[in-house]
Amino acid sequence: MILLGSTGSIGVNTLKMAKQFKLNVEVLVAGKNIDLLNEQIRVFKPSMVVIADKRDISRVNFSKVTFGEEAILEAITRAKSKLVVNALVGFLGLKPSLEAIKNGKKLALANKESLVVAGKFLDTKKIVPIDSEHFGLWYLLQDKAISSMTITASGGAFRDLDLKELSNVSVEDALKHPSWKMGSKITIDSATMVNKVFELLEASWLFDNSKINAVIERKSLIHAFINFLDGSTTAHLARANMCLPIAYALLGKINMPILEPLNLLELGALKFEEISSKRYAIWEYKDMILQNKDLGLVLNAANEVAVAKFLNKEIPFLDISKICIKALEKFENIKLNSIEEVFSKNAEVRSFCVS
Ligand code: NDP
Repeated sequence: MILLGSTGSIGVNTLKMAKQFKLNVEVLVAGKNIDLLNEQIRVFKPSMVVIADKRDISRVNFSKVTFGEEAILEAITRAKSKLVVNALVGFLGLKPSLEAIKNGKKLALANKESLVVAGKFLDTKKIVPIDSEHFGLWYLLQDKAISSMTITASGGAFRDLDLKELSNVSVEDALKHPSWKMGSKITIDSATMVNKVFELLEASWLFDNSKINAVIERKSLIHAFINFLDGSTTAHLARANMCLPIAYALLGKINMPILEPLNLLELGALKFEEISSKRYAIWEYKDMILQNKDLGLVLNAANEVAVAKFLNKEIPFLDISKICIKALEKFENIKLNSIEEVFSKNAEVRSFCVS
């Protein structure tokens, strides 16, 4: 496989699965964590390695390291592997997703931002999602008429915090997710609920279904429900561990244990709660975004600017949502007519949010 983002949370779990299934890793792409990358090179012996920054090349234990966005695209084109796992974070993942599909490769997509910003320009038949909720929906789908779909949210780091205290939370506290260990951006996106808006968009592109909503399930054990037209509802339950969706994305079919099954008696009661826009301001804009899915681009661009500022301690937590909402209102009537416009509008929204 070609693995983009090998040193991140999804990347590391993908390599765990690659080792278990003895899969060949032809390309490793990583950012700044060169120590971990060197360890991965030693174990998986790739034929190509790409990193983010030229200045780190001398630290990589590999003879022909390349760097930067163009080098990632070149590696996707040159590699013989038919599978690209895109576990890069943010808008950076879009060009590699387009390149993978252009080259006729199967795209195992963790980088949900690709679908959020450019879902209508991506051939979703070539995409297998690496996201627990979408894996859950896929697992439940049958050849039956559906009335609606529901995905779950944990509620993120501040689900129980007094609303008055939200204005003073620290970066360190925001990075403490109650049930998943993930990269820093998606952990912040969970605390603001932007991640769930992204996932609703992702689901609507993948499953071509607009009747999709989300509820809070604190234990992160139920990931998805489908309400069928006949009145039955099925639910997908599994431990909060990305190895299961990754294993299916890599192999398509699994006939061996990946996770410990749930013990229903240990599970106890499960509770479902509405997502409140008093705590998660972005939720107020969810329907507007789903009605004009091009707004996904606006939300993503504004959110990337805002989350970077928050992680840099330049703005307080609640300003992330304020920046996103200001951008959504400014670009409310956006219409994307081509993939070129995706890139130009992304730059325009970002510069609006930076200023
Ligand atoms: P991480 O931040 O943990 O990992 C991101 C990866 O991208 C790292 O390997 C990082 O390298 C690499 N990277 C960053 N910038 C560059 C660059 N300029 N060039 C090359 N590589 C770069 O993120 P996650 O693994 O948590 O998430 C990845 C994607 O998967 C996101 O879109 C997220 O929303 C999605 N996702 C994640 C889930 C999870 O459980 N983590 C669940 C579902 C979806 P380095 O670390 O070396 O700097």
